Amino acid sequence: MAKPKKGKKRGKGGDRIRAKKVDSSMPLVEKKKELSISAIREGTVLDHIPGDATFKVAEILHLGHHNGTVSVAANLNSKSMGKKGIIKIEGKFLTQDEVNKIAIVAPDATVNIIKNYEVKEKIKVKSPDVVDNVIRCSNPVCMTNNEQINTKFYVVKKDPLKIRCHYCERYMGKDDLEIV
Ligand SMILES: [Zn+2]
Repeated sequence: MAKPKKGKKRGKGGDRIRAKKVDSSMPLVEKKKELSISAIREGTVLDHIPGDATFKVAEILHLGHHNGTVSVAANLNSKSMGKKGIIKIEGKFLTQDEVNKIAIVAPDATVNIIKNYEVKEKIKVKSPDVVDNVIRCSNPVCMTNNEQINTKFYVVKKDPLKIRCHYCERYMGKDDLEIV
């Protein structure tokens, strides 16, 4: 809708002698950084994802099946986190349930709801106490791997993550997580 206005357009041959362009000395690197992920109009931006959890978050949200634009950036340099990931999803608003699932692998992630290119709402993720049907049990003889049963885990510890299978009682950490 809103067309960018072009203001301050001046014709050639201005009366000022010092009207020289000095743009070549501007640090173009800064601009390039901003463009590394494009803005979205309506949807969700997930920020502050731990570097090693970015693709797990994408899996949890089944972004491989999303029809809108999805931008995934991993291993971005972050002052506070070392390496972090950002995911932008056009045309998708997360449910509280999805937000809670993300918390398992990204306990400090920020969920930004974008409307008309602006952040309308920020949701803080909250680790759930029970994780239903998100993670596969790493125990091959667990009944969830052999029968049609949804997995269920209890979160024993949030950071570092420790979860326990409801069925076989196996403990798992963040390196064992495989998304269902
Ligand atoms: Zn199990």
